Amino acid sequence: MLFQDIEKALEFIDKKIEYPDLQTIVGSPTNPEIVISGKKVLIFCSNNYLGVAADPRIKTAVKNAVDIYGMGSGGSRLVSGNTAIQEQLEKKIAEFKGAEDAITFATGYMTNTGVIPALLNPPITSVTEYIKEKILPVQSIVFSDELNHASIIDGIRLSKTEKAIYKHRDINDLESRLRHKRSYRRKLIVTDGIFSMDGDIAPLDQIMELALRYGATVMVDDAHATGILGIGGKGTVEYFKIKQHPELIVMGTFTKVFGGIGGFIVGPRKLIRYLRVTTRPYIFSAPIPPAIAAGIIEAIDIISTEPDRRLKLWDNINYTRNLLDTVGFNTLRSETQIIPIFIGDDKKAIRASRRLLEIGIFIPCIRWPAVPHSKSRLRLTLMSLHTKGQIRILVDALLKIKGEFNF
Ligand code: PMP
Repeated sequence: MLFQDIEKALEFIDKKIEYPDLQTIVGSPTNPEIVISGKKVLIFCSNNYLGVAADPRIKTAVKNAVDIYGMGSGGSRLVSGNTAIQEQLEKKIAEFKGAEDAITFATGYMTNTGVIPALLNPPITSVTEYIKEKILPVQSIVFSDELNHASIIDGIRLSKTEKAIYKHRDINDLESRLRHKRSYRRKLIVTDGIFSMDGDIAPLDQIMELALRYGATVMVDDAHATGILGIGGKGTVEYFKIKQHPELIVMGTFTKVFGGIGGFIVGPRKLIRYLRVTTRPYIFSAPIPPAIAAGIIEAIDIISTEPDRRLKLWDNINYTRNLLDTVGFNTLRSETQIIPIFIGDDKKAIRASRRLLEIGIFIPCIRWPAVPHSKSRLRLTLMSLHTKGQIRILVDALLKIKGEFNF
């Protein structure tokens, strides 16, 4: 029965939505030039924004750590998998972000799906608390930007907490929702720092002000902003010059600028202590493999000491934006290395992406469920490694398909 339904669903997907193309990259996916189906193409969809993923120093760090630690961690952190290198990584990322402490997870997705429920459902500590939790309906509420990443949405679902979805980056809407729910005891506002599909920046300074006024806590997902925003690349908090605040929680991933895998939370020491005993993916799943942790430590050093990478990326962002604006593409409100080329119609966007690949540019189509139906787009991302020549080739190719597909 289940398999019949799966077949029906697949038929529907093939006919109505089109099954996504899965491109096989032969060799390293980290440089601007990659190989797909025996053909060299330019990649404009990598998260290796600062070009460190294949740095020889990182490769050496990973290889050396394999010699010491082997491949996996052998268990979850609380059982047998807590190696010295994972503790070093936590110290390192906390220092980089200017926070008291840090906790890491095997992926960014697990970070959000684990931490949000842990924050909103603290263990019950007494009979009085139990009665309050069960009888008073106004304990926890989460305020979430409508364009937040899927891992935040899933974290909220898992928390089984009441939610208030506010309009994208709309401070007035957020404030009116906070005002209505001000009597709730635990109020958590969650937002992407740089929005993953639109490339715009959350107004974190204004969100923090509201949080202070209404007694809420803020959690910012800095997956795409870490290494990119702020003079030192420390992310959205540095960009807005926000002072550390006891009710500010910063999440990030090691999957983007650091070129590895994993997720983290940085914040006050007490928060981290709490998360180590309440976050289920930390308790029940294995951590980042030690050798990858060693590579990430090296990547943090490189990103901290080589600001030119960030400057080069921002130069590429400004150059690309100017070219795209001149020729009139709809890039929504993008301000960063993530630049959507809005198409709308799902099938048109899929075909445009296939055509781009034929002419040597790899940018997959982003469509439902990553964005709403009929808001499909080509989502291009820039790296510091791209040359101006490669960017001009990209814009020429985009112009060509704009004419062919009429978007
Ligand atoms: N948050 C945001 C904003 C993201 O874009 C992503 C990944 N695309 C994640 C979290 C999840 O990170 P990871 O890939 O490390 O699981």
